Amino acid sequence: MSAHDPLARPTTEWLHTVHLQDLHAQNPFDPHEIRLSATGGCPRQQTLRILDYEADPPSVQQLSIFHAGHYWEDYLASLWEARYPGQVNRQVTVDTEWGTGHIDLWIEPIHHLVECKTTTSKKREDLPLEEHLDQVNLYLHFWGNDHQATAEIAYVLKDTGEVLTFPVPYDPDRIPVLLDRLQRMIIAVTIDEEPLPIPEDYAPARFPCAWRTPTGGWRRCEFWRACWTHAQSPKPTPDAAADPAWDETLRAHYALSAEIAQLKAQLKALEDEKKTYEKALGAYLDDTQQPHLTTPWGILTRTVSQPTVSYDVKAALKDGQITLDQIAPYRKLSQPRVTWTWKDPERLHSAS
Ligand code: SF4
Repeated sequence: MSAHDPLARPTTEWLHTVHLQDLHAQNPFDPHEIRLSATGGCPRQQTLRILDYEADPPSVQQLSIFHAGHYWEDYLASLWEARYPGQVNRQVTVDTEWGTGHIDLWIEPIHHLVECKTTTSKKREDLPLEEHLDQVNLYLHFWGNDHQATAEIAYVLKDTGEVLTFPVPYDPDRIPVLLDRLQRMIIAVTIDEEPLPIPEDYAPARFPCAWRTPTGGWRRCEFWRACWTHAQSPKPTPDAAADPAWDETLRAHYALSAEIAQLKAQLKALEDEKKTYEKALGAYLDDTQQPHLTTPWGILTRTVSQPTVSYDVKAALKDGQITLDQIAPYRKLSQPRVTWTWKDPERLHSAS
């Protein structure tokens, strides 16, 4: 073995990195569950994770920050444990039909739940964060109120070592908004099987999509590429490395696509013009109470179909009139739709 073989001569940094990677590989949380803890965050992010969109692997720095949260939680738990030996429950699961949560600490004798967070002193004035209040309110709503619980969020300011506590009274007014968010996520991943759209006020270089680190670098959401690269990537380069053996087929497809696009554009203009005439003719038929118009070249008949009945399942779910369990046996998956698209419209229209 060489002198640099870390197995033979490990360093502290190497041990730390390996430990983090092991912890990451053993992540006990189900990636396909809706997490109550993230309800206040980006709604699209949860749907991307559940639908298995590719995420950037976490850097060692991100894993370190995440891990630091765990050992600070161990410390806070030890404070309660010293006070109430053997009566502190950790990671209590809150299982609901809306998603799953994990209460960090449940102090049994005083019916008190503690959510442990880490932050820095720069954020002191913003505490407690709204999304953390949302999380604890959901824990109270689904679990804590039945246990006559009080609740707090304990923040560790990592740069100063201070611990700040914020009591969280149950706020029933928060709940409908949060349930609506959860409902939209459930419908997206179970019925639509499409991620929710990027929220309108989000931007690629703004939190929570991307943000500056204290050292001046950039950090970004693990799903940033899935959300923003399509908007920023250059046009696909024509003449990329397609096998020349396919040239003829591709050229024919290209020309046909261009012709179809041109015909569709013409057809749309003709349909639009026809509709303007039909609007005027329809008004004339209404006024004169005639069923059709007779001309030397044919009879023009207007047919008005009866309104069709449909049911807004999403609205019924949203109002709580039906549940996903009830409609699960009627779930149908459509056949995958296959479309072929040439991405460069300028070249497409100039094809001959
Ligand atoms: S990049 Fe932004 S919009 Fe996309 S999942 Fe992350 S936070 Fe949400």
